Amino acid sequence: MFEEYSGYRLAGRLALWFSLWAILGLLLDQFLLLLLVGALVLLGYHYRHLSRLAHWLWKDRRLTPPHGSGSWEPIFNGIYRLQGKNRRRRSQLARLLSRFREGAEALPDAAVVMGHEGEIAWCNKLAELHLGIHWPQDAGQRIDNLMRHPKFSKYLHSNRYDDPIEMVSAASDSRLLEIRIMAYGDNQKLLLARDVTRLRQLEQMRRDFVANVSHELKTPLTVLQGYLEIMSMMPDQDEKQVKAMSDQTYRMKSLVDQLLTLSKIEVSTEVDPARRIVMSQLLEQIAEEAEAMSGGRHRIRFDIDKSLDMYGDELQIRSACANLVQNAVHYTPEGGEIRVRWHRQEDVARFEVKDSGEGIAPEHLPRLTERFYRVDRARSRQTGGSGLGLAIVKHSLNHHNSHLEIQSTLGKGSTFGFSVPSNLIAQQQHERV
Ligand code: ADP
Repeated sequence: MFEEYSGYRLAGRLALWFSLWAILGLLLDQFLLLLLVGALVLLGYHYRHLSRLAHWLWKDRRLTPPHGSGSWEPIFNGIYRLQGKNRRRRSQLARLLSRFREGAEALPDAAVVMGHEGEIAWCNKLAELHLGIHWPQDAGQRIDNLMRHPKFSKYLHSNRYDDPIEMVSAASDSRLLEIRIMAYGDNQKLLLARDVTRLRQLEQMRRDFVANVSHELKTPLTVLQGYLEIMSMMPDQDEKQVKAMSDQTYRMKSLVDQLLTLSKIEVSTEVDPARRIVMSQLLEQIAEEAEAMSGGRHRIRFDIDKSLDMYGDELQIRSACANLVQNAVHYTPEGGEIRVRWHRQEDVARFEVKDSGEGIAPEHLPRLTERFYRVDRARSRQTGGSGLGLAIVKHSLNHHNSHLEIQSTLGKGSTFGFSVPSNLIAQQQHERV
């Protein structure tokens, strides 16, 4: 058992030591001299242990301290115990660190821990594979010096990491990475890079498949439609049957057309911001189509700021606006009112279609822009709806940094609208009508 430190024991020893020398001094009648000798012997004893301790601490490689006697024993033992405790704590920390590293290595993503300016503090094996980082040689290097991609540098220094970016891997051109940065702790950043090549390939395959099938269906449907028209003009035909066939063929054709439009819009991710769309012309055409579709059953009003144009893709904006107006006509009963507005609202341009139709229950609103989602399938089938209209609107608006806003009250009507950001607005000096 180690002898532990005790202040009383130390004081007792000191008192005993000097008492012995004092008694000896009294016996020999040399009290002061013997007290001095006692003090010098004690000093020598302590100095010897002090030098043994210093030697052990600085020169000796042994783990166990030298054997100390008397009051030095608890000191040596105390240091030994402290060392043992530190050793245990260090090995615990090392175990924890290696467990954390093993966990980070098991991640399916490339992970890089960085400092505020992007200095690499640590990375896993996948980061070496996907991002071309060499560990540990690149420790302390700034990551934007190794990943020299303007898109990545911009993202790293933007300090806004809400959305991930996608870029080609530095290690292989055929690999597409989704990169996400997260800021944490004291100016630390964590970069995660995921290989999304397969995912994007599958998405592309799905898009190509839908586009190809729709395209291939177009010709047979046109032929079928043509023959049905001829049949309807022939005598001795069952008019009802021919009409039913024509209606279904027409529905199928409009579904195929909408699928093709959606495929086209999905593919064109980049919109040319320099192409001006003359909104007054576009909306006039849509107004004529709406009147034709309504056949006088609704009161339709177009309130358009003719001086207000926008930049973007005409096909996409036409599809978005036309779908919203057509839906208003489809889902507003006879005698209802439809109001379309295109106007400036502070620093945005706003398009809005307000109807006094049947409205939509709140639980359907979040799902309306999903493909093939219809509130009432039977009702939608009657109107010739495919369930793709609002999906087209959503994608078209996404490409123009905008999104669809829907307000609706069941039984009262709905308002579908979107705002065009100021950088896509083009204003002419025309009067407003
Ligand atoms: P559809 O081709 O069936 O009209 P959409 O994607 O355009 O498909 O619309 C999805 C669903 O949203 C429709 O089936 C309809 O139930 C509902 N909807 C869309 N516009 C309106 C509207 N103006 N009033 C009421 N319901 C609407």
